[in-house]
Amino acid sequence: MVVGNREKSRNKVVIMADDLTPSVLIIEDEEAIIIMLRYNLERNGFLVHSSSDGENAFALVQEMKPDIILLDWMLPGCTGIEICNQLRANDETRAIPIIMLTAKGEEADRVKGLDSGADDYIVKPFSPTELISRIRAVFRRMRPAFSGKILNFGDVSMDLSTYKVIRNGMEVHLGPTEFRILQCLLEYPKRIFSRETLLTQVWGYNSDIELRTVDVHINRLRSALRLNDDDTSPFIWTIRSAGYCLQRSSD
Ligand code: CA
Repeated sequence: MVVGNREKSRNKVVIMADDLTPSVLIIEDEEAIIIMLRYNLERNGFLVHSSSDGENAFALVQEMKPDIILLDWMLPGCTGIEICNQLRANDETRAIPIIMLTAKGEEADRVKGLDSGADDYIVKPFSPTELISRIRAVFRRMRPAFSGKILNFGDVSMDLSTYKVIRNGMEVHLGPTEFRILQCLLEYPKRIFSRETLLTQVWGYNSDIELRTVDVHINRLRSALRLNDDDTSPFIWTIRSAGYCLQRSSD
């Protein structure tokens, strides 16, 4: 699932990561590895950027602000270690988790990689499953918001690590916007969210989206959450001249 807003920047389209979807930047010069990683990461709910250009890696990281970097050891023109050192020396990029990808499995290289500031190290060839579980382990340590958080309200549950929403035992399929709106509501059940608040939280501060767009997505969310055709309980209530609120009819 790809969640993100497309934004034109300097004549190229950049997919902006949002708070919900962990974004990964792959810096790797082997096309086959990028393709394999992209396929597996996207299937696991990550937003994926890639670059084979080690020399511009620093600028790229600053522009993309990824949640994690998969960094190849040997790149044309520079090494992953150099990039790692550079990222760690800068305040803006220091905290971004880095997993080094390398064919070198020697103990000395592993130590060098970790010394230069990598958070983990994986030796090629590796299985995609192993890499994904390493990423999740790094996130558990460094980005707890991405790891296994489940929000519940009534018979609805939302798993933030798998992006699954379940109502009454059945999976509910939501678009990315509906997912984010529901997440906001689930984080603070019974709190009234004004349209302005939802707009800011879901679309971001600089959005020029009209307020009634919020209503459109709320209605989509309501229909997606409906248990069956006879289910008329609003679940997401409209509070007149105030906004929306998550509430059960029995509350
Ligand atoms: Ca390489």
